[in-house]
Amino acid sequence: MNMTSQRILIWYRNDLRIHDNKLIYQALKEKAQIIPVYCFDKRQFRQTHFGFPKTGKFRAQFLRESVADLRNSLQKLGSNLIVRLGFPEKIIPDLAQELNIDAVYYHEEVTFEELAVEKSLKKALSQIGVKVNSFWGATLYHPDNLPFKIHQIPELFTNFRKQLEKKSTIDPTLPSPQKLPPLPEVDPGEIPQLLDLGIEEPISDERSVLRFQGGETKGLARLHNYFWEKDRLRVYKETRNGMLGSDYSSKFSPWLALGCLSPRLIYEQVQKYESERIKNDSTYWLVFELLWRDFFRFICAKHGNKIFHESGLQGIDIPWKEDWKRFQLWQKGKTGYPLVDANMRELAATGFMSNRGRQNVASFLTKNLGINWQMGAEWFESLLIDYDVCSNYGNWNYTAGVGNDARGFRYFNIPKQSKDYDPKGDYLRHWLSELASLPGEKIHEPWKLSQEEQKHFGVRLGVDYPRPVVDFFQSVKNNEQIYQAAVYRR
Ligand SMILES: Cc1cc2nc3c(=O)[nH]c(=O)nc-3n(C[C@H](O)[C@H](O)[C@H](O)COP(=O)(O)OP(=O)(O)OC[C@H]3O[C@@H](n4cnc5c(N)ncnc54)[C@H](O)[C@@H]3O)c2cc1C
Repeated sequence: MNMTSQRILIWYRNDLRIHDNKLIYQALKEKAQIIPVYCFDKRQFRQTHFGFPKTGKFRAQFLRESVADLRNSLQKLGSNLIVRLGFPEKIIPDLAQELNIDAVYYHEEVTFEELAVEKSLKKALSQIGVKVNSFWGATLYHPDNLPFKIHQIPELFTNFRKQLEKKSTIDPTLPSPQKLPPLPEVDPGEIPQLLDLGIEEPISDERSVLRFQGGETKGLARLHNYFWEKDRLRVYKETRNGMLGSDYSSKFSPWLALGCLSPRLIYEQVQKYESERIKNDSTYWLVFELLWRDFFRFICAKHGNKIFHESGLQGIDIPWKEDWKRFQLWQKGKTGYPLVDANMRELAATGFMSNRGRQNVASFLTKNLGINWQMGAEWFESLLIDYDVCSNYGNWNYTAGVGNDARGFRYFNIPKQSKDYDPKGDYLRHWLSELASLPGEKIHEPWKLSQEEQKHFGVRLGVDYPRPVVDFFQSVKNNEQIYQAAVYRR
């Protein structure tokens, strides 16, 4: 190593990968010695506003595994990952002084908590004369390639997508390093155990769609498995609304959320698949879905904190309820609506839920129970292994009817969705053992069972399985009135 070369500290955040990594690429281009660092930020392990663990056990476990995998990969390349527990804005300046760092590189985030850390860090580093350089690395499309400035991003997804598809390009992935310089003498630090973070170990549930394990290595393996080994990309569009099993959808989201997978790499693999296997609606649709992910991130960058406000991006002041009794029934999967209950139990047992499930349970919470969507969003934040601040709060805004879509009060007809997307009831039976004896159609609407049927199938309503917490259509009607009145007042 050239002794005069500069030292660049790479601050890892939600970009836990080696491949397609602008920070490593740029630092190596400048012939710098790179010092990779990850901080478990203590604030992320406190409680949410409504009192849930901010990073729940599944997500914490996935994060831990992802950091461990990154360390392992860096070690294989000759480097290492320095790991600390605390506040990045304190730890990084300390390390910068200890190791004579010239500059700190990191990937930008767009939301409140993350920006606050960036701001404090920049201030602390400027006081000790260390340079800072930030880069954009989370999306498929780089902001420089957008046909509009961030503050001009169209509010409607379709307009956003059409303009991008017509006028923008996606940059190719950056090359991965083959070798990295060793770290100077420094304590690499231990990766904290979940108990150190105040979190209990999750118990893995064999009913889970997939044995999710964090890290770039597993993310790349899933990509290879889903596209090339199982050849599922060719039917993605037809299967993506499923709820049961590992392959109805890609399951890339947890790895995307922590940056273990780069969306540009997925895009390149789609292109390769299109040239080597097949190009069809399904191959297009996977990229289409990745555009939703980009959209929510750019919308968050445009609107700042509005995405977190109760009145949402549209500023509609709906008098939401904070009904904890009913909220807990929703959390535990005991609402009496099997589709909602099965999905909520899957979430609580595994930290994952399908997109179809998420839309239905979010609709039920807001359009049937009239409960504050922020409570639901925080519960998802706590549990989802793929929690992504922009996708989560963006989608909740959207389903609560306060987002930037113009469609007003839209609700999901849950009994109908149940029959349409789980026609034989297999998904419901998978998660609701107490209803497993109910045949065919009956499992979708157990409240319709006669006394005789209840006896015959051994399912007593109100005893073995709850009666519906609200009347479906009456509750929709009530909440629609509340919604329309709020829109009118605006
Ligand atoms: C209320 C609600 C909350 C959500 N919270 C999150 C979240 O915290 N993190 C998250 O990644 N997704 C979230 N989603 C979006 C979506 O449900 C998940 O991305 C998807 O279910 C992940 O499974 P998959 O990777 O198999 O998806 P696939 O169907 O295989 O899609 C491929 C990828 O496209 C992206 N994508 C697909 N749908 C969406 C969408 N609606 N919004 C944004 N990106 C999308 C994801 O990155 C996904 O991995 C939420 C949706 C709803 C309705």
